[in-house]
Amino acid sequence: MKHLLYDDFPAEIGRLFSERGLPSFRAKQINEWLGKCALDFSQMTNLPIALREDLMQEFDLNAFRDVTVIQSKLDDTRKYFFTLRDGEHIEAVLLHYHHGYSVCVSTQAGCKMGCKFCASSACGFGRDLTCGEILSELVAITADMRKTTPDFRIGHIVLMGIGEPLDNYDNVLRFLRLAMDEERFGIGARNISLSTCGLVDKIAKLAEENIPLTLSISLHAPTDLKRDAIMPVNRRFPLAALIDACRDYDRKTGRRISFEYALIAGENDSVEDAKTLANLLRGLDCHVNLIPVNEVPGAPYRTARENQRLLFTNTLEKCKINVTVRRTLGADIEAACGQLRRAANNTAN
Ligand code: SAH
Repeated sequence: MKHLLYDDFPAEIGRLFSERGLPSFRAKQINEWLGKCALDFSQMTNLPIALREDLMQEFDLNAFRDVTVIQSKLDDTRKYFFTLRDGEHIEAVLLHYHHGYSVCVSTQAGCKMGCKFCASSACGFGRDLTCGEILSELVAITADMRKTTPDFRIGHIVLMGIGEPLDNYDNVLRFLRLAMDEERFGIGARNISLSTCGLVDKIAKLAEENIPLTLSISLHAPTDLKRDAIMPVNRRFPLAALIDACRDYDRKTGRRISFEYALIAGENDSVEDAKTLANLLRGLDCHVNLIPVNEVPGAPYRTARENQRLLFTNTLEKCKINVTVRRTLGADIEAACGQLRRAANNTAN
C-alpha cells in the first residue's frame, strides 16, 4: 500500500518534501490541503500537474476504497461505513448535539477483548488501524458534510467505535496528537473522550502523556464475579486494580473519570448492584453514564426495564454518585458500534 499522507505530522511532510528536493512552500501547500480534508490530488489546483502526478504515484490521500453513509430518519445522526484499502471494514458515527458535532471513531478493525454483549467481539479481530486511518474517519466525514454545510467543523471526538483504543496504544496516541494539531483539526484534549474496557497498564501510561482528555471506563458490573462473566479483560485486570488506576489518573490529570454502565436485565441492574457500585466508586471524582444495553442478535442480554433503571438511578443518587442516563441517538440505523461490520462479515462468510 502507498504511504498515506494523513499518517504524518505537518513537520514530517516538510521533511519528506525536502528529501525529494521540493521547496518548502510546496509542503506548506500540501499541509493546507490536508487541513482542508482533501481526498484527491486533482483538487490541488495550485500545484503543477506534473508534481501532482508524481505525488499520486507515491502517496495516498484517501484511506478508504468505499464509504457508505446512512442517515437516521429520527434525528441528525449519520453512520459512516468505511472499506479500507485492504478490504477491512470499520464504522464511525456523526452525532449532532446542541453544543456541536461529535464523531465516534473506530480504532481497530475488530476487537480482541471479547466482551460478551458487544457486536464488535462477535466477528473477531482484523488489524490495528494506523493513526492516519483513524484520522481519515474525521477527514472523510468533514469532506462529506462540507458538501452541504461549508462551515462544518467537528467539535468533539469520542474513541468509542470498533476496537479497544488502548490495545492500539501507539497509533491511537499519535492519532490524538494529530487531531489536536492546529494544522489538522485543532481539537482540544478537553473535547476528546477515550473509552476503554480497562487495560490498567495502559491507563497508567496514558496518565503520563500530558493529554488531559476524558477517560471513560466501560465498567458494566460492580463485582469481579459479575464482571468476569461478561468481560474477559477483568480476569487480567480485576476491579480493585482498575479503580486504583482511575484514582491515579484523576490525581495526575485532574480529570473526572466517566464510567459506562450498560444495564442488562437480571444481570447487573438490581438495587443491590447499585449499592455495590456506589461503594466501589466512593471517594472517586467520577460520573456514571447508564446505557440501556443494545440487544445484539445472538447475545442473551436484554435491556433493563424502565422502572428498574429508575430504581438503579435513584439508588446511585442517594449514595451521592453523579449519574445520567445516556440519550439514544440513531436508534434506527444500528448506530451502536460494530453492528454494521458484523453484518458485512456475516454476508461475506
Ligand atoms: N473498547 C472500548 C471502546 C469501544 S466500545 C471500550 O470497551 O470502552 C464503546 C462502548 O460501547 C463501551 O462502553 C462498550 O462497553 C459499549 N457497548 C458495547 N456493546 C454494547 C451493547 N450491546 N450495548 C450497550 N453498550 C455496548
